[in-house]
Amino acid sequence: MNRREFIKKSISYSCILFFTAFSPLKSLFAYDTSSKLHEASFYTILSSSRVQCQLCFRRCVIDERKRGFCKARENKNGKLYSITYNRPVAIHIDPVEKIPFSHFYPGTDVLCIGTAGCNLMCLNCINWHFALKAPDDVENLSYYPEEVVNIVQEKNLTTICFTYNEPTMCYEYMRDVFKLAKKQGIKTVFHSNASMNVEPLIALLPYTDAIIADLKAFNNDFYIKNCSSILDPVLSFLKIVKKNNIWLEIVNLVIPGLNDNKEDIKKMCTWIKDNIGAETPLQFSRFFPTYKLTNLPPTPISILERAHAIAQESGLHYVYIGNVSGHPYANTYCPSCSKILIERKGLLVQQNNIKDGNCRFCGHKIHGIWEKRR
Ligand code: SF4
Repeated sequence: MNRREFIKKSISYSCILFFTAFSPLKSLFAYDTSSKLHEASFYTILSSSRVQCQLCFRRCVIDERKRGFCKARENKNGKLYSITYNRPVAIHIDPVEKIPFSHFYPGTDVLCIGTAGCNLMCLNCINWHFALKAPDDVENLSYYPEEVVNIVQEKNLTTICFTYNEPTMCYEYMRDVFKLAKKQGIKTVFHSNASMNVEPLIALLPYTDAIIADLKAFNNDFYIKNCSSILDPVLSFLKIVKKNNIWLEIVNLVIPGLNDNKEDIKKMCTWIKDNIGAETPLQFSRFFPTYKLTNLPPTPISILERAHAIAQESGLHYVYIGNVSGHPYANTYCPSCSKILIERKGLLVQQNNIKDGNCRFCGHKIHGIWEKRR
């Protein structure tokens, strides 16, 4: 067994597999430089030295030896390469509630993976120390797709999730992991800022079981000022996921004074109901001061409860408050008889009263993916 194999074996038998540039263990896990760059899947050649990436809404035009906005895709000799293939910076076993799914195998654990790079630049980014860095500026692990799937099998987990940074930044890696995982009956999910372009998204959906998407605000100015982004691609992404019958849940991080406007929240909820469906779970998540927004207070609970009330009045069936431990709106309630279906304390499921996809008390159908199938 060589050193690399030894390190991996050690990792696969530990419960916690988390690694970032700040980890005291980082010297053990230096990136394996023998790994090859991986040619990108969605780009067009504009000239002998210039390409255009087609993966996300930015459609970066990239000159020779340059990278796109995300720092994760590079033009080398007129070809575009993914710099993050096989190069996670974080691998961790998390409860599915942390992703945060509410209607997808509650109470199960998930292997979560993230890489460096992002196509947005959110002022409230909680993982800025690797998500907003180039892959070369953080230390990386080296895991081939089959090795990722092996960990899931050894740990007897149900699901693989790409999260922590925007998974579009490691699109080819995620796709290849998902393809292998599906062959083994493993569920595949990702948490996205929902700004991937239509063509790569449609190509990925046959290998995807569920998606959590951020809808950061229903206000283009917020996207421009807070995220260096725009709203429209997000709405298109959500509609395509829904149209393709992939299970979808939406998260809205409520930042006090920036996106907590009542009218915008009302418009957002109405849009979700009309375009994605009243059965789509929507979580209002509590903001805590971080990165460039340390000047703001945590979101007052009353603001989250006001947003929750607006969503319910708008006709959404499953509305949650996240990031507030012990809040009653962390629970799932039956839209018909109002009884508690899933009781949550923090990230733990205390009771689950959904039986065969229905409310145990009144038999009402509860939308979601409930059975653990592995
Ligand atoms: S994925 Fe990266 S390189 Fe490609 S268009 Fe988006 S930001 Fe630009």
